[in-house]
Amino acid sequence: MMKYIGAHVSAEGGVQNAPLNAAAIGAKAFALFTKNQKQWFAKPLSKEAVKQFRDNCEKLNFRPFQILPHDSYLINLGNPEREALEKSRESFLDEMRRCEILGLDRLNFHPGSHLGKTDEESCLRTIAESINISLDKTKGVTAVIENTAGQGTNLGHRFEQIRYIIDHVEDKSRVGVCFDTCHAFTAGYEIRTGEGFKRTFEDFDNIIGLEYLKGMHINDSKKDHASRVDRHENLGKGFLGEEVFRLIVNDPRFDDMPLILETPEDSLWQEEIERLYSFIG
Ligand SMILES: [Zn+2]
Ligand SMILES: [Zn+2]
Repeated sequence: MMKYIGAHVSAEGGVQNAPLNAAAIGAKAFALFTKNQKQWFAKPLSKEAVKQFRDNCEKLNFRPFQILPHDSYLINLGNPEREALEKSRESFLDEMRRCEILGLDRLNFHPGSHLGKTDEESCLRTIAESINISLDKTKGVTAVIENTAGQGTNLGHRFEQIRYIIDHVEDKSRVGVCFDTCHAFTAGYEIRTGEGFKRTFEDFDNIIGLEYLKGMHINDSKKDHASRVDRHENLGKGFLGEEVFRLIVNDPRFDDMPLILETPEDSLWQEEIERLYSFIG
């Protein structure tokens, strides 16, 4: 049992470069976009890129549970408008299939937004149905719901909302959760103190269940507690302070899953990874 800490690295020039970029900064885990995150669709991954990705991961000792791919930011699986929802579902299915081809076992995504056009509950049901559709058509990839800051009309900022989605997913063996520290904090969870941290993960376990946790995003926050704004900051430079990160890396509940930095200044990632490892023990 150990900690796998890394960052959301660039896949510029092809997915095969992501494991190389991760290894270059001393990462033991990584996240990536398997295509341009600002586009709905992309051409299929080439056979060579897939082979090189798998070879590089094997050579550098990155196994699937250390890798947390992230889907496109355009996708809204809870979109209340039919046509836009269909496009999101198709795009998400394509993302799931790309993970499948790459031999990856999880795909991280933001649950979705009601856009002020429907109520929360029906949006959450739409999201669950979107997940059901893509799980039906793929094998071996878990859909990993990320908790959000609750900015605008984004759902998934309360554990109860994530629970509601999971309750409506048919194959519970292939749905999971990614916990983002910045999002949780600005959504209103007080994780800065030992007491608040303890209570937050008790709530997570009681409401969602820790068995669903498939990864974490390790980010400080530019915005204050309960601001409902999603602005990441480099570690120790924001409102979160360092205690929460010390608690995470020393907590066996977060062993054996990708712990991923999404902090804005990528030149600091190597240092941040080293610092996080130095907190252990
Ligand atoms: Zn995140
Ligand atoms: Zn964020």
